[in-house]
Amino acid sequence: MTDLPGIVVTGASGRMGRMLTEIVTASERARLVGVLERPGHAWIGQDVGEAMGGAPIGVIVSDDPLEQISQAQAILDFTAPAATVEFAALAAQARCVHVIGTTGLSEEDLSKINAAGRHATIIRAGNMSLGVNLLVQLTKKVAEALDEDYDIEVIEAHHNQKVDAPSGTALMLGQAAADGRGVSLEQNADRGRDGITGARTRGHIGFTAIRGGDIVGEHDVMFATAGERIVLSHIASDRAVFARGALKAALWGQGRKPGEYDMLDVLGLKE
Ligand code: NAP
Repeated sequence: MTDLPGIVVTGASGRMGRMLTEIVTASERARLVGVLERPGHAWIGQDVGEAMGGAPIGVIVSDDPLEQISQAQAILDFTAPAATVEFAALAAQARCVHVIGTTGLSEEDLSKINAAGRHATIIRAGNMSLGVNLLVQLTKKVAEALDEDYDIEVIEAHHNQKVDAPSGTALMLGQAAADGRGVSLEQNADRGRDGITGARTRGHIGFTAIRGGDIVGEHDVMFATAGERIVLSHIASDRAVFARGALKAALWGQGRKPGEYDMLDVLGLKE
């Protein structure tokens, strides 16, 4: 039992944090050794099972990341960019696998995470589900097969508490479409259309974000031309798919050499 990889969950009270805590607690392949919340949070010092409204599970919520991370083999992190950058440096110090689901990371954040990847095994993906990672590969293939007569639009929908747009998944899909076409996404993305925008620019990849209610995550990639449309679609109806993917990544990362990896590596989908 004790030689199972020890896992720390950060942002334990968040939507994903709760789900990760449940999935790791129930797993027979890993053990929950710590949970983190930010200093001053009401859950600090409480048993995480009780804090979530259930039975105690013997793991106390802590606000000391270094202490928690140094006794773990992996940290599952679906929090916020500033926290994730901090955890990446600590994971590098502790030589601990860092699974990053946090989205909305800036170029500066990414370069700090990249620096941490010299010492830590980092697995980062805007979406940890098998279905979306398959959709990424399909998007790349369809974009490769079709020319610029087909306008590519990425449409995503999420719950009304999501703070970043387009979603990390929409950006992954946009990147896959750009890779398939052999163009730069930065130079060809249409984000946030409003007002008199003029006609659509041929070859651009458009993004639309819908926010409402409790939508877990829905993504369409549309290839539209005169007379026909192809739509590749994924609907996540349960956050457990992301949490299971994150745990799978943490287990896959054990014993891997330091560096940055993604879910295509974990799922063996890289070409
Ligand atoms: P959420 O409900 O707002 O949860 C975020 C949690 O992180 C909150 O509990 C927050 O605490 C905590 N946090 C922030 N800073 C922290 C720190 N320094 N130390 C410890 N905890 C800290 O958000 P969510 O819906 O779970 O999503 C979290 C992130 O995961 C978002 O970036 C989202 O886009 C991403 N996500 C990714 C995937 C994927 O598959 N890659 C899937 C779903 C979501 P406070 O409430 O005190 O701020």
